[in-house]
Amino acid sequence: FSDPRPFSLADLPIRDDLRGLTPYGAPELKVKVALNVNENTHPIPEAVARSIIEALATQLLTVNRYPDREFPALRDSLASYLGHGLTRENIWAANGSNEVLQQILQAFGGPGRSVLGFPPTYSMHSIIAAGTGTEWIAGERDAGYEISPQTAVDWVTRTDPDLVFFCSPNNPTGTAITLDTIAAAYDATDKIVVVDEAYAEFGLAGDPTALSLLPGRDRLIVTRTMSKAFAFAGARLGYLAAAPAISDALRLVRLPYHLSALTQAAAVAALAHAPEMLAMVDDIKRQRDRIEDALRELGYTPFPSASNFVLFGGVPDSHELFEQLLERDIIIRDLGIPGHLRVSAGTEDETTAFLDAMRDLTPSR
Ligand code: PMP
Repeated sequence: FSDPRPFSLADLPIRDDLRGLTPYGAPELKVKVALNVNENTHPIPEAVARSIIEALATQLLTVNRYPDREFPALRDSLASYLGHGLTRENIWAANGSNEVLQQILQAFGGPGRSVLGFPPTYSMHSIIAAGTGTEWIAGERDAGYEISPQTAVDWVTRTDPDLVFFCSPNNPTGTAITLDTIAAAYDATDKIVVVDEAYAEFGLAGDPTALSLLPGRDRLIVTRTMSKAFAFAGARLGYLAAAPAISDALRLVRLPYHLSALTQAAAVAALAHAPEMLAMVDDIKRQRDRIEDALRELGYTPFPSASNFVLFGGVPDSHELFEQLLERDIIIRDLGIPGHLRVSAGTEDETTAFLDAMRDLTPSR
């Protein structure tokens, strides 16, 4: 440590394909109103917390042993939560859907292989591609951030990727992708198609989900998470639904005992209270709609969102507005899309604080 020579990442014998890349970088600032990473800012109900604590306490008594590698109880709970005729065999889980996506790319991507995605989209898709040595192919969306079946098929045919990643509703735009687009892309390839549905629960009741496309489509994977609707981001539990053979592929790359016994117990206990946990979702949707309406009235251009966040354009200087909000103890997200910012729907009070600040900071136009 006394060596005066500055030694940095660039000096390490790191893989050439990782040189110069930037890591996932949502700022982690201690701010009163944090609406920057699409968390569910509602605390979980106390009765549910107590039931989770009991489950954890029981599990602690056997924590000297490795957890169940196959987590059957958790897979049963997730299957019955999802419905759609899914069973334990259709479900796989990991520490956040990020890890599920990483395992998918470890098994089906990797050096010499490619994944097609459609930016602007969840930044981790390309970062996980880089981490697994998979080439990231950036497709282009239609107007309004939509992807028509024809656009999807054109990109799949032209680039012949080993995987296609859709995100629906899409982060950061909030746009949902139609089932026709997903089905058309699936038919245009004999490789893997992934639909990241992290925000599915924030859509309208009866909104189409790619889960309904699974029967007969053995190369289709739908990923979900408990981080958003279930307010469980800190517990780290993501999962997928797919044909049973997909889990067999992921068993080849997962680390043994990757899901801790405590994670499994906490998630099973939370899923047993799904209706209470999901009661918060209605309030979040109300706050999201409030944000859309209020920002439109202020002259911004919010994109219609089927998730728990709103992307809005019409910001003359997004960096400046981000900083002005931060001075007021409010953090939202600057994703580097010129003239745009993204805000997560918070509790009623947090949403009010954000909208009041926006009214103050927006010159009348
Ligand atoms: N997919 C999307 C689209 C996301 O926005 C996020 C989190 N921001 C994730 C996946 C990952 O969530 P987690 O790892 O917490 O399940």
